[in-house]
Amino acid sequence: MNDAGGSGGSSSRASTAAGGSGGSSSRASTAAGGSGGSSSRASTAPRAGGSATPPALPAGAFDSHCHLDLIERPVEAVVADALAAGLSRMITVGCDLPSSRWAAACAAEHEPVYAAVAIHPNETAKAAAQPGGAGAVLAEIGSLAAQPQVRAVGETGLDYYRDWADPAVQRDWFRAHIAIAKAAGKALMIHDRAAHEDVLRLLEADGAPEQVVFHCFSGDEAMAKRCADAGYVMSFAGNVTFANAQQLRDAAAAAPAELILVETDAPFLTPVPHRGKPNAPAMAAYTVRCIAEVKQLDVAELCAVIAATGERVFGPWQA
Ligand SMILES: [Zn+2]
Repeated sequence: MNDAGGSGGSSSRASTAAGGSGGSSSRASTAAGGSGGSSSRASTAPRAGGSATPPALPAGAFDSHCHLDLIERPVEAVVADALAAGLSRMITVGCDLPSSRWAAACAAEHEPVYAAVAIHPNETAKAAAQPGGAGAVLAEIGSLAAQPQVRAVGETGLDYYRDWADPAVQRDWFRAHIAIAKAAGKALMIHDRAAHEDVLRLLEADGAPEQVVFHCFSGDEAMAKRCADAGYVMSFAGNVTFANAQQLRDAAAAAPAELILVETDAPFLTPVPHRGKPNAPAMAAYTVRCIAEVKQLDVAELCAVIAATGERVFGPWQA
């Protein structure tokens, strides 16, 4: 997750649990900013529950990173909206032990959903204080990572923007997750916030897993080239569509198309034109179109490339 506001993992999850289904529509209306009179525009009016379905994409694209547990709507409805928008799959991502267990169970239950499991760098200090300590927590992440519907170890990495956990503690946990990904033969899904140098350094020092994805890629053109040289995949989130995000679009322009994925990080980082409203995997359609424009690729062509990259990184999807 890369929430732009002040709330992080556990506090936003707590508010999700407390908020109930009425929360999202009121949040949408307070954050909508400027789109008054939307009731007269049926095509953009939010559906009940606060989501809008964008025009459908050609087949192939998927949402490489979302948090279905934090979305204030039933998983079935969120998945149905994604399928209607042409997003055929989504990876729901854990940030601590409970949300990692939830992600694995959700993916086992819903065919288009796959899972990633890890302790988010911001959650590492808290996880270390659990009964049994880091060893017990990491052992369970390791056993979840071995499940077939779990396709990545993440989100793990380093977050030097927030100070929820000491950087040295974060680095220990990141290295442990690198080892888990390699042992399980799963992709490593990285959260890198204001920590590019240390993330790259530790990957090189410990030996990167075969498949590495930078979730919510936040680097510039030079960072994109370094990732490309190492074969790392860059997953772009809705913030690439923001007016002030030219640096991210330059990075996307520099990244080889076959190393690009698209994600929502829902419920955070809703792309333009719904910025400020609750996010959901369907919204990845806007981000795919933005990247296609940046790369000067046909949308269908980009979707086909994303589909191939997805199977290469996360393994073949079930038939
Ligand atoms: Zn995330």
